[in-house]
Amino acid sequence: MMPSVGSVMRVGLGVDVHPIEVGRPCALAGLIWPDEDGCSGHSDGDVAAHALVDALLSAAGLGDLGEVFGTTDPLWAGASGVDLLRAAMERLTADGWEVTNAVVQVIGNNPRIGPRRDEAQVALSAVLRAPVSVSATTTDGLGLTGRGEGRAAMATALLVPRP
Ligand code: MG
Repeated sequence: MMPSVGSVMRVGLGVDVHPIEVGRPCALAGLIWPDEDGCSGHSDGDVAAHALVDALLSAAGLGDLGEVFGTTDPLWAGASGVDLLRAAMERLTADGWEVTNAVVQVIGNNPRIGPRRDEAQVALSAVLRAPVSVSATTTDGLGLTGRGEGRAAMATALLVPRP
């Protein structure tokens, strides 16, 4: 049993990986990337948003994305990553938490995040009502992200009890 809200801050961690699906619209970090292939998955395949959802849920002790939203639940079929983030925020807000800040790093060959980093940060920060930093890296050609087979993301979030 997870302790309920106390007086301390709580950190959370999230990781997500999806296969790239040629021709699927690309949703990533709360944005649509028109010239990129998206990721397959039950929802829109936004690995950055999904990693953030898991970071938020784990920090709040609310489980994980698969458990809370159901990886096969028709309710969430085609849901955007931002929809899931909003739903996660509703739950942790109801449980007495607010976000201090969050970070997410996208791992993959494309899209190049830099030119739209500010836009992504604004979009995600609006949902979390706190600063969200977005960064990106590659794996130098190694592994599923390096071969362009998939896209990954890792996120952390820091929560504090709502005043
Ligand atoms: Mg996912």
